[in-house]
Amino acid sequence: MSRDSMQSRLMIWFPADLDPGCAEVDLHGFFHAETAQVVVIQPDAAIAGRRNLSRGMPRLEARFDEQGWTFHADGWRCGARPYDLDADLFSRHRGLLELASMQSSGVIVCGCGSVGSLAALDLARSGVGRFLLVDEDLLSIENLCRHQCGLADVGRRKVEAVADRIRQINPKALVEVAAMPLEQLDPAVVAAFSDANTLMLACADSRRADRYAARLAASLRLSFLSIGLWERAFAGELFYWHPDQPMPCYSCALEGLDEAMPVRPQSQRRFYSNETDLEALAFQPGLAIEIAHVTQIGLKLALDLLNRNVPSYAPRLLGHLSQYTLVCNTNDPRIGGDAAEIFSHPLQVTTSIQVGFGSSSQSCSCRARGGMD
Ligand SMILES: [Zn+2]
Repeated sequence: MSRDSMQSRLMIWFPADLDPGCAEVDLHGFFHAETAQVVVIQPDAAIAGRRNLSRGMPRLEARFDEQGWTFHADGWRCGARPYDLDADLFSRHRGLLELASMQSSGVIVCGCGSVGSLAALDLARSGVGRFLLVDEDLLSIENLCRHQCGLADVGRRKVEAVADRIRQINPKALVEVAAMPLEQLDPAVVAAFSDANTLMLACADSRRADRYAARLAASLRLSFLSIGLWERAFAGELFYWHPDQPMPCYSCALEGLDEAMPVRPQSQRRFYSNETDLEALAFQPGLAIEIAHVTQIGLKLALDLLNRNVPSYAPRLLGHLSQYTLVCNTNDPRIGGDAAEIFSHPLQVTTSIQVGFGSSSQSCSCRARGGMD
């Protein structure tokens, strides 16, 4: 496209509530020369990759008067379309999710790896308005084949990289980050972030970490969901808890799991970590597609937990799945080993595994009844 023809075709997308004082300052956003499209963002939006629009494109002049905004590039009047984040961003959810309820909801994402990054971004797309991201790791090359972030993020803290991706989807989302394991994070920070509409989402690299998250969630009366993958992601496990009814938390229920489970304990290892074999786990394979299958079913539960007290919301899975659910990708023993044969067919989702309170639950907050303290 020649320069003149591009200038005559420039289309400017701009925030409907762009500050009229903005004409006096430099505009920021994104410019796509190949399609002559410009996305202007609010000057204070902390969005990664944003550029000063006076660089790399025809000089853009913005004017505000009683007619509203007009944009000119080197004397050419540009096409312009306002966008309204509140009205437009989640317009496709109408009748499915209550915007105000989703915007006020919060999720604590413990672990921002393959599961946590996918979960965080899909929950942002669902309208969750507040995030606390917890993970101590840096993104490495080996992560890219199953992580939502890319090459430009290698070497960054996963929490920062995922926070940027969330803001790319919803600039109004409030994102806090903690570059440390949850066990090292001051519980007062978690408590300050949390309210009755907050979900603790455990996607850490060990069951030990998820147990800690479960007990913290129970003590704060937060709903809880753990999403974990087994070896080579041939299957995964989901566990939920909420404070509205008496039910064992993940930590207490796992105590009695060996008898309740049709799988030998050694087959319940997650592919990406366990307490004793961290070295080997760095090389555990798993396909993004199969990790996503388990994660997406978990995310339906996450939506159900966040909206469980919204009268107009139709639950997807809550009430149909038991607290502990196994999700199978393949029952082929060449991928999953002998344990894969517990599943009768690929894509099987269990609905009837029952768990109970373990002996240590006597001292656990999950025993307490009632709602938020
Ligand atoms: Zn408990």
